[in-house]
Amino acid sequence: MDWGDFAGWSKQIAEWGAQYHETLRDRPVRAQTKPGEIAAQLPAAPPEQPEDMARILRDFEEIVMPGMTHWQHPRFFAYFPANAAPPSMLAEQLINTVAAQCMLWQTSPAATELEGRMVDWMRQALELADGFTGVIQDSASSATLSAVLTMRERATGYTGNRAGLAGKGALRIYCSDQVHSSIDRACWVAGIGQDNLIKIPGRGPRYGMPADALDAAIRTDLAAGHTPAGVIAITGGTGVGGSDDLASVAAVAQAHDLYTHLDAAWAGSAMICPEYRSAFWQGVDAYDSIVFNPHKWLGAQFDCSIQFLRDATPQLNTLKIEPEYLKTTGGVVTNYSEWTIPLGRRFRALKLWFLIRAYGLEGLQARIRNHVTWAEELCEAIRALEGFEITTDPILSLFSFRCPGDDATQQRLVDAINDDGRIYLTQGAFAGRKVIRVQVGQFDTTRDDVMAVAQVVQEVWETIT
Ligand SMILES: *Cc1c(COP(=O)(O)O)cnc(C)c1O
Repeated sequence: MDWGDFAGWSKQIAEWGAQYHETLRDRPVRAQTKPGEIAAQLPAAPPEQPEDMARILRDFEEIVMPGMTHWQHPRFFAYFPANAAPPSMLAEQLINTVAAQCMLWQTSPAATELEGRMVDWMRQALELADGFTGVIQDSASSATLSAVLTMRERATGYTGNRAGLAGKGALRIYCSDQVHSSIDRACWVAGIGQDNLIKIPGRGPRYGMPADALDAAIRTDLAAGHTPAGVIAITGGTGVGGSDDLASVAAVAQAHDLYTHLDAAWAGSAMICPEYRSAFWQGVDAYDSIVFNPHKWLGAQFDCSIQFLRDATPQLNTLKIEPEYLKTTGGVVTNYSEWTIPLGRRFRALKLWFLIRAYGLEGLQARIRNHVTWAEELCEAIRALEGFEITTDPILSLFSFRCPGDDATQQRLVDAINDDGRIYLTQGAFAGRKVIRVQVGQFDTTRDDVMAVAQVVQEVWETIT
């Protein structure tokens, strides 16, 4: 394809995109596809001869689109949202076009300098203390892995990278039982091991880990000759929104000189609203590392995850590597690839710049406030359905419920709802039982979309009983 043709196809795709979004409500939210159905339509071998772009795009519509689940659908209430607000999509198109690899300051100074400023805009928007810096990563999983590696290196006097972990005993990391599976995986990959990730049962209205139980677990490990390395707190767990009391957890960690990481991947976006901070954000400034995903609730197109660092030095001491070919000359500059595990970096900050400017913080706050309010209203509507039970009350915009019957019936209802296609919900587990989760957070959702959930649940329930 030459550049003369490029503009025409690009315009066609832009028009397709606008129309797709305008007609999204008419599509089933979750793909209504059987396993293997899409693969069966794809040639087994690659083409030897060039194919026409018109034909490729037609196949995209006919083969690929029927197998897509519509994450931007206003009636998407499953998992957590993966919003892509239109200004963020436009920025992504520009990034795609310039396609710079932004690993070092000199490989695109604007990308590095805009990233620094966007991290600081978000620091202010979340009311984190002056002095936090940070880096934009691809995902919260990567940020958490970076933090766990830092815990490991700090606890071994920065000898793990060089000498390995043999003979260093059991390094222990502590968290509640409400954390995301990315914490487990980070411990696997960092050589800590699942058995050395100590999960403290959450308690109370937000299922946080009690500070005294955390302290007792650390003391038991010290007595047994283990090496405590870090504490991972959570604000807004994936299951039901479990959230630790940040101040008391950090106080215990600091008393034992442990590195602290906070996973606020989902709920962090809501902290742009001052009124939620008293319940969820008190004590946040004590954390060494904090991750939150603008690519979930805030509206930045996936991927865009910010890791804030109270002091970047321990993470740089863990991850920075500077072979000759990456050395740069000249003044002191930030090379963000030294802060993360991958070397290559996309220009993610542009999406935040477009997003925050196009809506203003007030525009973004208004959406999140609506989502929280509508989730509370929907929760009451589901509570009123005959025989239904609210299993966890809303934490921000996430709650869970059960229909009458056993665990298998819960799954049967979820599957029937998603086969129906008007809304999309997923199941979760809480207190040893299966629950049905609802989260409200899609960028274009309206109150009517949200309240439709109660109606659809009721109607589908009647069809399966
Ligand atoms: C989504 C989520 C993650 C993982 O985020 P990725 O960016 O997909 O790695 C981690 N923790 C919590 C609480 C989450 O909600």
